[in-house]
Amino acid sequence: MGYYQDFIVKPGSQVKLRDIDPDYKDGLTKEKAEEQLAKNLKKLQALQEMLYAEHKRALLVCLQAIDGGGKDGTIRGVFGPLNPQGSRVASFKQPSTLERDHDFLWRAHRDTPVLGEICIFNRSHYEDVLVVRVRNLRPEKIWRRHYDQINDFERNLSENGTHVLKFFLHISKEEQLQRFKDRLDDPAKHWKIAESDYTERERWDEYRKAFEDALEKCSTDYAPWFVIPSNKKWFRNLAVSEILIKYLEDLDMKYPKPQVDVDAIRKKYFNGKK
Ligand code: AMP
Ligand code: MG
Repeated sequence: MGYYQDFIVKPGSQVKLRDIDPDYKDGLTKEKAEEQLAKNLKKLQALQEMLYAEHKRALLVCLQAIDGGGKDGTIRGVFGPLNPQGSRVASFKQPSTLERDHDFLWRAHRDTPVLGEICIFNRSHYEDVLVVRVRNLRPEKIWRRHYDQINDFERNLSENGTHVLKFFLHISKEEQLQRFKDRLDDPAKHWKIAESDYTERERWDEYRKAFEDALEKCSTDYAPWFVIPSNKKWFRNLAVSEILIKYLEDLDMKYPKPQVDVDAIRKKYFNGKK
Protein backbone atom coordinates (compact mmCIF):
# COMPACT_ATOMS: atom_id res chain seq x y z
CA MET A 1 0.00 0.00 0.00
CA GLY A 2 2.98 2.26 -0.25
CA TYR A 3 2.40 3.45 -3.79
CA TYR A 4 0.67 6.62 -2.66
CA GLN A 5 3.81 7.76 -0.87
CA ASP A 6 6.19 6.21 -3.41
CA PHE A 7 4.77 7.95 -6.44
CA ILE A 8 3.43 11.25 -5.14
CA VAL A 9 5.25 14.37 -6.28
CA LYS A 10 5.91 16.09 -2.97
CA PRO A 11 4.77 19.71 -3.24
CA GLY A 12 7.74 21.95 -3.92
CA SER A 13 10.06 19.10 -4.90
CA GLN A 14 12.06 18.81 -8.12
CA VAL A 15 11.09 16.24 -10.71
CA LYS A 16 13.67 14.54 -12.93
CA LEU A 17 11.77 12.11 -15.09
CA ARG A 18 15.00 10.63 -16.42
CA ASP A 19 15.72 9.40 -12.90
CA ILE A 20 12.38 7.63 -12.55
CA ASP A 21 12.35 4.10 -13.94
CA PRO A 22 9.29 3.61 -16.18
CA ASP A 23 9.90 -0.15 -16.02
CA TYR A 24 9.51 -0.36 -12.24
CA LYS A 25 7.24 -3.21 -11.17
CA ASP A 26 7.95 -3.64 -7.47
CA GLY A 27 9.23 -7.18 -8.01
CA LEU A 28 5.76 -8.33 -9.05
CA THR A 29 4.77 -10.70 -11.81
CA LYS A 30 1.93 -9.92 -14.18
CA GLU A 31 -0.14 -12.72 -12.63
CA LYS A 32 0.31 -11.46 -9.08
CA ALA A 33 -0.45 -7.90 -10.09
CA GLU A 34 -3.60 -8.90 -11.96
CA GLU A 35 -4.80 -10.92 -8.99
CA GLN A 36 -4.33 -7.90 -6.74
CA LEU A 37 -5.95 -5.59 -9.29
CA ALA A 38 -9.07 -7.78 -9.36
CA LYS A 39 -9.38 -7.42 -5.58
CA ASN A 40 -8.73 -3.69 -5.81
CA LEU A 41 -11.43 -3.18 -8.39
CA LYS A 42 -13.97 -4.73 -6.03
CA LYS A 43 -12.87 -2.35 -3.28
CA LEU A 44 -13.01 0.55 -5.67
CA GLN A 45 -16.55 -0.34 -6.65
CA ALA A 46 -17.58 -0.34 -2.99
CA LEU A 47 -15.90 2.99 -2.39
CA GLN A 48 -17.57 4.49 -5.44
CA GLU A 49 -20.93 3.28 -4.17
CA MET A 50 -20.27 5.07 -0.89
CA LEU A 51 -19.18 8.27 -2.62
CA TYR A 52 -22.36 8.21 -4.69
CA ALA A 53 -24.63 7.43 -1.73
CA GLU A 54 -23.03 10.06 0.43
CA HIS A 55 -23.44 12.80 -2.20
CA LYS A 56 -21.12 15.09 -0.29
CA ARG A 57 -18.05 15.30 -2.48
CA ALA A 58 -16.80 14.64 -5.97
CA LEU A 59 -13.63 13.12 -7.37
CA LEU A 60 -11.78 14.46 -10.36
CA VAL A 61 -9.03 12.27 -11.80
CA CYS A 62 -6.74 13.79 -14.42
CA LEU A 63 -4.75 11.49 -16.70
CA GLN A 64 -1.84 12.88 -18.65
CA ALA A 65 0.84 11.14 -20.67
CA ILE A 66 2.83 11.39 -23.84
CA ASP A 67 1.09 9.84 -26.89
CA GLY A 68 0.88 6.09 -26.42
CA GLY A 69 1.30 6.48 -22.68
CA GLY A 70 -1.78 4.44 -21.85
CA LYS A 71 -4.51 6.87 -20.86
CA ASP A 72 -7.19 4.93 -22.74
CA GLY A 73 -5.97 1.62 -21.32
CA THR A 74 -6.01 2.99 -17.77
CA ILE A 75 -9.57 4.18 -18.24
CA ARG A 76 -10.64 0.75 -19.47
CA GLY A 77 -8.66 -1.23 -16.92
CA VAL A 78 -9.20 0.78 -13.73
CA PHE A 79 -12.32 2.86 -14.29
CA GLY A 80 -14.16 0.55 -16.70
CA PRO A 81 -15.60 -1.61 -13.91
CA LEU A 82 -17.10 1.36 -12.06
CA ASN A 83 -20.83 1.94 -12.01
CA PRO A 84 -21.61 4.14 -15.02
CA GLN A 85 -24.27 5.79 -12.91
CA GLY A 86 -21.83 7.96 -11.03
CA SER A 87 -18.80 8.07 -13.27
CA ARG A 88 -17.96 9.83 -16.50
CA VAL A 89 -15.03 10.44 -18.83
CA ALA A 90 -14.28 13.78 -20.43
CA SER A 91 -11.71 13.88 -23.24
CA PHE A 92 -9.80 17.00 -24.13
CA LYS A 93 -9.07 17.37 -27.82
CA GLN A 94 -8.01 20.42 -29.76
CA PRO A 95 -10.30 23.17 -28.50
CA SER A 96 -13.39 23.96 -30.58
CA THR A 97 -14.00 27.53 -31.72
CA LEU A 98 -16.36 28.06 -28.82
CA GLU A 99 -13.82 26.67 -26.37
CA ARG A 100 -11.03 28.74 -27.86
CA ASP A 101 -13.15 31.88 -27.46
CA HIS A 102 -13.30 31.30 -23.70
CA ASP A 103 -10.52 31.29 -21.14
CA PHE A 104 -8.64 27.98 -21.23
CA LEU A 105 -10.16 26.71 -17.98
CA TRP A 106 -13.74 27.14 -19.13
CA ARG A 107 -14.07 23.76 -20.79
CA ALA A 108 -12.39 22.03 -17.85
CA HIS A 109 -14.72 23.66 -15.33
CA ARG A 110 -17.74 22.80 -17.47
CA ASP A 111 -16.84 19.11 -17.21
CA THR A 112 -15.98 18.87 -13.51
CA PRO A 113 -17.91 16.19 -11.58
CA VAL A 114 -21.03 16.87 -9.54
CA LEU A 115 -21.28 15.71 -5.91
CA GLY A 116 -21.16 11.93 -5.67
CA GLU A 117 -19.61 11.60 -9.10
CA ILE A 118 -16.19 10.51 -10.34
CA CYS A 119 -15.03 12.23 -13.49
CA ILE A 120 -11.93 11.14 -15.38
CA PHE A 121 -10.22 13.72 -17.52
CA ASN A 122 -8.55 12.01 -20.49
CA ARG A 123 -6.02 14.80 -21.00
CA SER A 124 -7.07 17.95 -19.22
CA HIS A 125 -6.49 21.65 -18.67
CA TYR A 126 -2.79 20.69 -18.44
CA GLU A 127 -2.66 20.55 -22.25
CA ASP A 128 -2.46 24.32 -22.00
CA VAL A 129 1.00 24.05 -20.43
CA LEU A 130 2.02 20.99 -22.47
CA VAL A 131 1.13 20.94 -26.18
CA VAL A 132 0.44 24.67 -26.12
CA ARG A 133 3.89 25.33 -24.70
CA VAL A 134 5.84 22.83 -26.80
CA ARG A 135 4.04 23.81 -30.00
CA ASN A 136 4.13 27.56 -29.30
CA LEU A 137 0.39 27.73 -29.80
CA ARG A 138 0.21 30.75 -27.53
CA PRO A 139 2.87 33.25 -26.47
CA GLU A 140 5.03 32.27 -23.51
CA LYS A 141 3.75 35.28 -21.58
CA ILE A 142 0.29 33.71 -21.71
CA TRP A 143 1.06 30.06 -20.91
CA ARG A 144 3.50 31.00 -18.11
CA ARG A 145 0.54 32.38 -16.19
CA HIS A 146 -1.38 29.18 -16.59
CA TYR A 147 0.46 27.34 -13.80
CA ASP A 148 -0.80 29.74 -11.14
CA GLN A 149 -4.21 29.86 -12.75
CA ILE A 150 -4.41 26.06 -12.70
CA ASN A 151 -3.41 25.98 -9.03
CA ASP A 152 -6.07 28.58 -8.18
CA PHE A 153 -8.67 26.62 -10.15
CA GLU A 154 -7.83 23.35 -8.43
CA ARG A 155 -7.81 25.00 -5.01
CA ASN A 156 -11.23 26.40 -5.73
CA LEU A 157 -12.47 22.92 -6.67
CA SER A 158 -10.97 21.28 -3.63
CA GLU A 159 -12.34 23.90 -1.22
CA ASN A 160 -15.77 23.30 -2.70
CA GLY A 161 -15.87 19.54 -2.29
CA THR A 162 -14.16 18.26 -5.43
CA HIS A 163 -11.09 16.17 -4.68
CA VAL A 164 -8.48 16.30 -7.40
CA LEU A 165 -5.94 13.54 -8.14
CA LYS A 166 -3.60 13.70 -11.12
CA PHE A 167 -1.67 10.86 -12.69
CA PHE A 168 1.23 11.19 -15.09
CA LEU A 169 1.72 7.87 -16.90
CA HIS A 170 5.46 7.61 -17.38
CA ILE A 171 6.75 5.50 -20.30
CA SER A 172 10.12 5.35 -22.04
CA LYS A 173 10.78 6.55 -25.57
CA GLU A 174 11.49 2.95 -26.64
CA GLU A 175 8.22 1.73 -25.15
CA GLN A 176 6.36 4.47 -27.03
CA LEU A 177 7.91 3.36 -30.33
CA GLN A 178 6.99 -0.26 -29.56
CA ARG A 179 3.38 0.74 -28.91
CA PHE A 180 3.26 2.74 -32.15
CA LYS A 181 4.61 -0.32 -33.95
CA ASP A 182 1.92 -2.49 -32.35
CA ARG A 183 -0.68 -0.05 -33.63
CA LEU A 184 0.70 -0.36 -37.15
CA ASP A 185 0.58 -4.12 -36.96
CA ASP A 186 -3.01 -4.30 -35.70
CA PRO A 187 -5.63 -3.16 -38.22
CA ALA A 188 -8.09 -2.64 -35.35
CA LYS A 189 -5.78 0.04 -34.01
CA HIS A 190 -5.06 1.90 -37.24
CA TRP A 191 -7.74 4.45 -36.44
CA LYS A 192 -5.67 5.53 -33.46
CA ILE A 193 -2.58 6.41 -35.49
CA ALA A 194 -2.03 10.12 -35.95
CA GLU A 195 0.71 11.78 -37.95
CA SER A 196 1.25 13.96 -34.88
CA ASP A 197 2.28 10.89 -32.85
CA TYR A 198 5.44 10.78 -34.91
CA THR A 199 6.05 14.51 -35.26
CA GLU A 200 5.52 15.06 -31.52
CA ARG A 201 7.89 12.19 -30.78
CA GLU A 202 10.68 14.30 -32.24
CA ARG A 203 9.98 16.77 -29.46
CA TRP A 204 10.31 14.18 -26.72
CA ASP A 205 12.76 16.24 -24.66
CA GLU A 206 10.67 19.38 -24.90
CA TYR A 207 7.63 17.44 -23.71
CA ARG A 208 9.66 15.92 -20.88
CA LYS A 209 10.66 19.40 -19.73
CA ALA A 210 7.07 20.63 -20.01
CA PHE A 211 5.80 17.65 -18.00
CA GLU A 212 8.46 18.19 -15.36
CA ASP A 213 7.49 21.83 -14.97
CA ALA A 214 3.79 21.00 -14.70
CA LEU A 215 4.50 18.30 -12.10
CA GLU A 216 6.75 20.59 -10.07
CA LYS A 217 4.64 23.70 -10.20
CA CYS A 218 1.24 22.09 -9.81
CA SER A 219 1.62 19.25 -7.35
CA THR A 220 -0.05 20.66 -4.26
CA ASP A 221 -1.47 19.42 -0.99
CA TYR A 222 -4.97 19.90 -2.35
CA ALA A 223 -4.35 18.43 -5.83
CA PRO A 224 -1.32 16.14 -5.90
CA TRP A 225 0.40 14.69 -8.94
CA PHE A 226 1.58 11.09 -9.06
CA VAL A 227 4.21 9.77 -11.49
CA ILE A 228 3.25 6.20 -12.36
CA PRO A 229 5.83 3.86 -13.90
CA SER A 230 3.81 2.74 -16.91
CA ASN A 231 5.91 0.65 -19.27
CA LYS A 232 4.13 -2.36 -17.78
CA LYS A 233 0.44 -1.79 -18.28
CA TRP A 234 -0.48 -4.23 -15.51
CA PHE A 235 1.74 -2.43 -12.99
CA ARG A 236 0.33 0.93 -14.05
CA ASN A 237 -3.25 -0.24 -13.47
CA LEU A 238 -2.35 -1.76 -10.12
CA ALA A 239 -0.56 1.38 -8.94
CA VAL A 240 -3.36 3.74 -9.99
CA SER A 241 -5.97 1.54 -8.33
CA GLU A 242 -3.99 1.34 -5.06
CA ILE A 243 -3.58 5.10 -4.90
CA LEU A 244 -7.27 5.70 -5.52
CA ILE A 245 -8.22 3.21 -2.83
CA LYS A 246 -5.84 4.70 -0.29
CA TYR A 247 -7.15 8.18 -1.03
CA LEU A 248 -10.84 7.24 -0.90
CA GLU A 249 -10.42 5.12 2.26
CA ASP A 250 -8.76 8.04 4.00
CA LEU A 251 -11.84 10.18 3.33
CA ASP A 252 -13.60 8.03 5.93
CA MET A 253 -16.90 8.19 4.07
CA LYS A 254 -20.15 7.14 5.68
CA TYR A 255 -23.46 6.01 4.23
CA PRO A 256 -26.07 8.69 4.90
CA LYS A 257 -28.50 8.07 7.74
CA PRO A 258 -31.72 6.40 6.58
CA GLN A 259 -34.59 8.78 5.87
CA VAL A 260 -37.06 6.28 7.33
CA ASP A 261 -37.44 4.32 10.56
CA VAL A 262 -36.06 0.97 9.38
CA ASP A 263 -37.21 -0.91 12.48
CA ALA A 264 -40.71 0.49 12.25
CA ILE A 265 -41.01 -0.61 8.62
CA ARG A 266 -39.65 -4.05 9.45
CA LYS A 267 -42.21 -4.37 12.24
CA LYS A 268 -45.13 -3.19 10.17
CA TYR A 269 -44.50 -5.08 6.93
CA PHE A 270 -42.34 -8.05 7.94
CA ASN A 271 -43.55 -8.86 11.46
CA GLY A 272 -40.22 -7.63 12.76
CA LYS A 273 -38.40 -10.54 11.11
CA LYS A 274 -34.77 -10.06 10.10
P1 AMP B 1 -6.09 12.16 -28.63
O1 AMP B 1 -6.07 12.29 -27.13
O2 AMP B 1 -5.10 11.16 -29.15
O3 AMP B 1 -7.45 11.97 -29.17
O4 AMP B 1 -5.57 13.56 -29.23
C1 AMP B 1 -6.10 14.78 -28.86
C2 AMP B 1 -5.20 15.85 -29.39
O5 AMP B 1 -5.69 17.13 -28.99
C3 AMP B 1 -3.77 15.75 -28.86
O6 AMP B 1 -2.84 15.87 -29.90
C4 AMP B 1 -3.68 16.94 -27.91
O7 AMP B 1 -2.38 17.44 -27.77
C5 AMP B 1 -4.63 17.92 -28.56
N1 AMP B 1 -5.07 18.93 -27.60
C6 AMP B 1 -5.68 18.74 -26.42
N2 AMP B 1 -5.87 19.92 -25.78
C7 AMP B 1 -5.34 20.87 -26.56
C8 AMP B 1 -5.21 22.29 -26.44
N3 AMP B 1 -5.66 22.95 -25.38
N4 AMP B 1 -4.62 22.96 -27.45
C9 AMP B 1 -4.16 22.28 -28.53
N5 AMP B 1 -4.25 20.96 -28.71
C10 AMP B 1 -4.84 20.24 -27.74
MG1 MG C 1 -3.49 10.14 -29.85
